[in-house]
Amino acid sequence: TDHDHEYDLAVLGSGPAGYTAAFRAADLGLKVALIERYDSIGGVCLNVGCIPSKALLHVGQVIDSAAHLGEHGVSFGEPDIDIDKLRGFKDSVVEKLTGGLAGMARKRKVEIVQGMGQFSGEHELVVEHEGSERTVGFNQCIIAAGSRVIEIPNVPWDDDRVMDSTGALELADVPERLLVIGGGIIGLEMACVYRALGSKVTVVEMMKQLMPGADADLVKPLQQHLKKQGVEFHLDTKVEKVEAGDSALTAHLDGKDAPDSADFDRVLVCVGRRPNGDQLNAEAAGVEVDDKGFIAVDGQMRTNRGHIFAIGDIVGQPMLAHKGSYEGKVAAEVAAGHKRAADARVIPSVAYTDPEVAWVGLTEGQAKDQGIDYGVGKFPWAASGRALGMDRSEGFTKLIFEKGSDRLIGAGVVGMHAGDLIAELALAIEMGCDAADIGLTIHPHPTLSESVMMAAEAYEGTITDLY
Ligand code: FAD
Repeated sequence: TDHDHEYDLAVLGSGPAGYTAAFRAADLGLKVALIERYDSIGGVCLNVGCIPSKALLHVGQVIDSAAHLGEHGVSFGEPDIDIDKLRGFKDSVVEKLTGGLAGMARKRKVEIVQGMGQFSGEHELVVEHEGSERTVGFNQCIIAAGSRVIEIPNVPWDDDRVMDSTGALELADVPERLLVIGGGIIGLEMACVYRALGSKVTVVEMMKQLMPGADADLVKPLQQHLKKQGVEFHLDTKVEKVEAGDSALTAHLDGKDAPDSADFDRVLVCVGRRPNGDQLNAEAAGVEVDDKGFIAVDGQMRTNRGHIFAIGDIVGQPMLAHKGSYEGKVAAEVAAGHKRAADARVIPSVAYTDPEVAWVGLTEGQAKDQGIDYGVGKFPWAASGRALGMDRSEGFTKLIFEKGSDRLIGAGVVGMHAGDLIAELALAIEMGCDAADIGLTIHPHPTLSESVMMAAEAYEGTITDLY
């Protein structure tokens, strides 16, 4: 029978998708095993992703703010960076959170099974750890095995001056000249960190625009800000190959405005991530994995096998922690017999660069492509007292409304704390807010959040019609 296995639920992978699912399922009364190959739970996000990167970005931002104050009569002098201590700070943040998770697992009696898990049957995983194997039988399973870095060819990966995001977060040193291959969110975040710590950073991006998922106007203030700080950009440029020399890594570039070659002390490759579906022996359970390694799921996060779910990076884009944890709750609740389905309208994206770039719902480009009759309300932060008071007025808030209904269908914010501001706009879309709902809501003064209200007011016609 299906109901006599050791665990009600096995969760494979302890990232934000997996631990959220495991905890929710345990809270709902299921006996849960959480399988993780590493000795620290929390997945990419806590160990080598969201959390350590944000700790370092915070430090970079403070360094820059302090330097910037020099223009206003307050000087601190050159930062004196103790890299070991800084690394220690970052590690301590990670340890607090992963340790906290382990405690939460204990409290819920979620059993953590350490080792590499692979399916050996429809209701069975074999977990291998340091040469010994253990079989975990389950009634239901949630696959939350996440993703890994994509390695590009023609780069000397065996040279320890070549790094992926994990290597960059290890903070071995502050290279004099750093090449970042890939101008997406992760590459740009790490570019901000290393630039603030003192590296001369060059970013090479194959597409014509940084962060190709966002509207070009939204990314521009970030690019200009970084350029002013000395970051060099080569867009529409391909890195043909990187050669390891004794004193430098030489990158050969192919792009209109790029030099044919340039020397660097370290190279960071951030060209994307691929799902881990190919490493699970999923066929033993009859679970279909596509040729890229993704696992297809339905609205309840079920795979083609009804008793096996999949969540997080492994089910597709966007590969974001908050998407994974949302899906984790849905899968756990369905597994526990609740009537539940994933029905989020939007998933916000945030680059925690300096300035931050955040967007939610449709971009203007998508609205155009879909032939939607839309209007834009934009509020430049040059008119925000709060932004001016921080001397950071390069940002703006942009709302995209559907003409006729005047409902919010998308939003973008660039500037300090954009990632926090975007939450209100995600809620506004989920709630079906129109321009008047947002524009007539009293926002506290003086805050950056006022820019949301002002952008709604700027959307032509609507609000004034209502007055
Ligand atoms: P993962 O976090 O990848 O966790 C999967 C876990 O499963 C891992 O611990 C892995 O060891 C384990 N595992 C895999 N296969 C097996 C197996 N066969 N047996 C046992 N264990 C296995 N997202 C954001 O939303 N905000 C951010 O600010 C952000 N910053 C990022 C910064 C960086 C540098 C990186 C790399 C990523 C960042 N992300 C961010 C993305 C985010 O980390 C991922 O979307 C998120 O971690 C995915 O969660 P997950 O639970 O699906 O998988």
